[in-house]
Amino acid sequence: MIDVERIRRDFPILGREVYGKPLVYLDNAATTQKPQCVIDAISEAYCNVNANVHRGIHFLSQQATDMMEAARDKVRQFIGAGSTGEIIFTRGTTESMNLLASSFAQAFLKEGDEVIISGMEHHSNIVPWQIQAGRYGFKLKVIPVTDLGELDMDAFSAMLSDKTKLVSITHVSNVLGTVNPVSEIISLAHSRGIPVAVDGAQSVPHIKVDVKELGADFYAFSGHKIYGPTGIGVLYGRKELLEKMPPYQGGGEMIKRVTFEKTTYNELPYKFEAGTPDYVGSIALATALDYVQAIGLDTIAQYENELCDYAISKLTQIPGMRIIGNSEHRSAVVSFLVGNIHPSDMGTLLDRLGIAVRTGHHCAEPLMDRMGIPGTVRASFSFYNTKAEIDTLSAGIERVKRMF
Ligand code: PLP
Repeated sequence: MIDVERIRRDFPILGREVYGKPLVYLDNAATTQKPQCVIDAISEAYCNVNANVHRGIHFLSQQATDMMEAARDKVRQFIGAGSTGEIIFTRGTTESMNLLASSFAQAFLKEGDEVIISGMEHHSNIVPWQIQAGRYGFKLKVIPVTDLGELDMDAFSAMLSDKTKLVSITHVSNVLGTVNPVSEIISLAHSRGIPVAVDGAQSVPHIKVDVKELGADFYAFSGHKIYGPTGIGVLYGRKELLEKMPPYQGGGEMIKRVTFEKTTYNELPYKFEAGTPDYVGSIALATALDYVQAIGLDTIAQYENELCDYAISKLTQIPGMRIIGNSEHRSAVVSFLVGNIHPSDMGTLLDRLGIAVRTGHHCAEPLMDRMGIPGTVRASFSFYNTKAEIDTLSAGIERVKRMF
């Protein structure tokens, strides 16, 4: 059971007003708010242990290094990875996917090869592959999305071939809320020896993820979407693959030995972490993961599913309401359109009522094209949201409707 009122007190921002109205924050898929313990962890790190990591022999540098490495181990444990060498700190999911696309393509992809993505990907799991496809000449194949907002699994099976060198897929759609059958996708791909990368930006904050149990070869997520700070994220990669992949960026930290003739690279994960890392970010991310674990991901998933079901039952009572994405398997996101009201008009007017939702294409333009819509209004939930807030959203939509 979630004690929402107690949890809300941990998040200072939830107590504020906008336009003289209590804030109803329903934009959690874009970024989550931060509990006081995360804010304190950032402040504490700068007040008491700030020093550059890994390169210093002095006390503070060692302490900061120990804290950063403990944070790496926390991430490892949180997602069920085998070793800390498989946990690469990045700026977020976007950088994780760019690193992956760049290094994987350089190591493994050539003309005639194929990489499979899906029709519901965020741009950060499309564009990095397009950039590399332009360099190495491989082809992108796209799993179609059904009218319900699910992946067409028959089409996916038929797409797999000897040319397929990687499948890169989102775990949860940031627009439709669909939870994709990632285990099944991985089994199908692995039965042909094809590795699978998973964009976990919208799954890790909401459902228990165990990368070993799933069998994922790569898994990416962002700290700021799981109550941690901005500017920190993770790419998990299976050691055997990461070892064969070249560095993404060059500079300090990622080397073993540099001469003008030849440079050798550091061991995992440092080979992929050039330059001063965001060690404060990683320390605060670990605090966020501790916070989430203390509540419990099963408890979180159950409560957020309840909120989602409640939202759908409330919103579908509004005449003219059209929910975009109707999979049975969903998580924490509801996208919708109402009559002919443009999503940005709806979002702007809801904002005046203190309700923060996101509108537009949600960095998934090909999915908007598939659905034949310019964009949606998206309400996305966290364990600190309440049914009363969903009532406020529903009343707000009714009010906006009356204005049109
Ligand atoms: N992938 C998905 C499914 C997302 O929802 C997002 C962000 O909304 C991203 C990737 C990109 O995450 P970030 O902007 O934190 O790098």
